[in-house]
Amino acid sequence: MMEHFVNRKTFDDVMVPNYMPQSIIPVKGKGAHVWDQQGREYIDFSGGIAVNALGHCHPQLLRVLQYQSKRLWHLSNVYTNEPALSLAKKLIECTFADKVFFCNSGTEANEAAFKLARKYAYDNTGPEKHEIIGFTSAFHGRSLFTVSVGGQKKYREGFAPTPKGITHVPFNDISALEAAISDKTCAVVMEPIQGEGGIFPADDDFLKAVRKLCDQYNALLVFDEIQTGMGRTGHLFAYMDTEVVPDIMTSAKALGAGFPIAAMLATDKVARSLGLGTHGSTYGGNPLACSVALETLNIINREDLLANVTRKHTLFRKKLERINEKYSLFKEIRGKGLLIGAELNPPWHGRAKEFLSAGIRHGVMLLIAGPNIIRMTPPLIIPDKDIKTGMKYLEQAVAEIYDENK
Ligand code: PLP
Repeated sequence: MMEHFVNRKTFDDVMVPNYMPQSIIPVKGKGAHVWDQQGREYIDFSGGIAVNALGHCHPQLLRVLQYQSKRLWHLSNVYTNEPALSLAKKLIECTFADKVFFCNSGTEANEAAFKLARKYAYDNTGPEKHEIIGFTSAFHGRSLFTVSVGGQKKYREGFAPTPKGITHVPFNDISALEAAISDKTCAVVMEPIQGEGGIFPADDDFLKAVRKLCDQYNALLVFDEIQTGMGRTGHLFAYMDTEVVPDIMTSAKALGAGFPIAAMLATDKVARSLGLGTHGSTYGGNPLACSVALETLNIINREDLLANVTRKHTLFRKKLERINEKYSLFKEIRGKGLLIGAELNPPWHGRAKEFLSAGIRHGVMLLIAGPNIIRMTPPLIIPDKDIKTGMKYLEQAVAEIYDENK
């Protein structure tokens, strides 16, 4: 089926240079295993950055995708479709939300959420209530609006002028939020656990205080659960393990388990502000994507699967701690469920990428979250034996780098 022979060098020849992928090219995956062009096998601790929640080519998802591919691929939103309606019903049944908007990526779901927050304030208070508060180190996507609400300056550099009316305060710092919030604030936007920013969980007290301040100033609380949602933390959505419920929530990544789809969920009162013609997406609610997502949700939203995510966290942590006892590599091991970050000790700062490459040499696919943190977001269903094998490979990778630096 392939017209040309391609390898990693082809990437540098034909692709815009905004990425620098690893040296190998994976061509096949099954469960938590991946094979490259040369037939070399890897254990996948990366899970497509918290996307492949059910591993690669899950048989139930394959069945649904094949079934739907023979019925209906695409319609546009001029017509509605059964998979989209069924998925929306199911999402509403499982969460705080009353209404759903479908799109295709996390960025788009957040774009819709931020637009809705402004529109709701505009409709109910007036145009002066338009300010959005985000947090330092937060990540919400790569469109101009989402890099602006995101708290990492480097993603905005060179793209000015960016949208106005957005401020950032330090995460988990309630006094800073108290000082920044006002009657002009239309929304506070946060990840329950900052993912790209370094796997930093929000404190329970902080979350409660944020909710209280939002209520006091009539601002909406928006949770970006794009990385934390769909079972990643051992709960269907991370907010479900807190005493706080948002007004708007976004989901993507694992929602389609590898098939692109995203959703913005909201209460009925808030959703009403995205009235007829105010927002849209050609592909949003695509029947193929929605049928895969519905099956994904049905598989993930089960007590036994979610309890296993928490149990597997302990196994990951134990293995990482054992590596640390030998090599004193990590300052802290953080995270919840299968969203795990191991922060490198200061002498290793800036070198997380080297561990990712060494991981590939030893047969394990890893991620990083910034220059100092090794991140893992494996399939939620990764078998214990694959965790043990992957950890053995990780230890070999660590040993290689450690020995080179002795
Ligand atoms: N929000 C969070 C918390 C994310 O982790 C990401 C992606 O890493 C996004 C938004 C952006 O999602 P996408 O890359 O699908 O646009």
